[in-house]
Amino acid sequence: MSYSFEGKRVWVAGHRGMVGSALVRRLAAENCEVLTVSRDQLDLTDQRAVLGWMHGSRPQAVFLAAARVGGILANDNHPVEFLRDNLLIETAVLTGAESVGVEKLLFLGSSCIYPKHAEQPIREEALLTGPLEPTNEWYAIAKIAGIKLAEAYRREYGCDFISAMPTNLYGPGDNFDLNASHVMPALIRKVHEAKLSGGEVSVWGTGTPRREFLYVDDCADACVHLMQHYSDALHINIGSGSDVSIIELTHTVMEVLGYDGPVVTDPSKPDGTPRKLMDSSRLAALGWQPRVDLREGIALAYQAFLAGEGRGL
Ligand code: GDP
Repeated sequence: MSYSFEGKRVWVAGHRGMVGSALVRRLAAENCEVLTVSRDQLDLTDQRAVLGWMHGSRPQAVFLAAARVGGILANDNHPVEFLRDNLLIETAVLTGAESVGVEKLLFLGSSCIYPKHAEQPIREEALLTGPLEPTNEWYAIAKIAGIKLAEAYRREYGCDFISAMPTNLYGPGDNFDLNASHVMPALIRKVHEAKLSGGEVSVWGTGTPRREFLYVDDCADACVHLMQHYSDALHINIGSGSDVSIIELTHTVMEVLGYDGPVVTDPSKPDGTPRKLMDSSRLAALGWQPRVDLREGIALAYQAFLAGEGRGL
């Protein structure tokens, strides 16, 4: 079983986002026509508009990378937007994809769909086996609904829709707004600014939680690989296979950026889930491996930050 992009019209929904733009970069190496549509032209939460656009553009393959995303604080402060907008986007795009006869669709979720105390490394089967981490349950519930909708379309209508769950991603096009960002872009910005001022680097929470990180171009490559080689109802993890504590990560970012100043922790900010490391052995069994290691990825992400390739700058 193998799906070919050769000569196909491939829609990257969410092409301005970090994952979507990495997918557009990656798909340039395939002999296909990449379709994109700007936010001004199409509101992805508007099902009627999405249906109309899809009937006009007739995509044959779809990567659904559009979502309302954000870090631990943004999720906690905007529960309505994280739940409602993501439900609307995935309902509109999956419904449209079935309606226009899309041959293959990949829905992108996130590792936060898994229970807060899931056994580590987290296997795909851990989904819905326990309570979620409360700080991001709004986003997680919407993404779980998306996985189930893709699975339901496969079961009831025979659609070749698959779902992939990437671990914490970072890279060019990240959000560097400290109130909305994830930890990696936040640390890159904080260490850069501390280096300029000679000040301290402030780490939210205790610094003890552990997270797994993957460079976004590796994730895009894995998504293309899955579209080509995977067709099943069960969602599939995309990870690097190793995790670090937030304090270790802080020191690694400082080493890569060349700053050796003081580090303080801020326990008034939430820690979130204690550990998030995924079991990506099913993806490895399909013959895929990441290429960019953590230090190289941080250096690349820092170059992109310095070049102004990001939001919230
Ligand atoms: P999560 O993986 O869903 O918990 O999302 P984040 O990437 O926002 O946070 C990961 C971990 O990094 C949490 O334990 C945060 O408390 C910690 N962290 C430390 N400093 C920061 C920071 O400046 N921003 C963010 N977003 N998280 C931070």
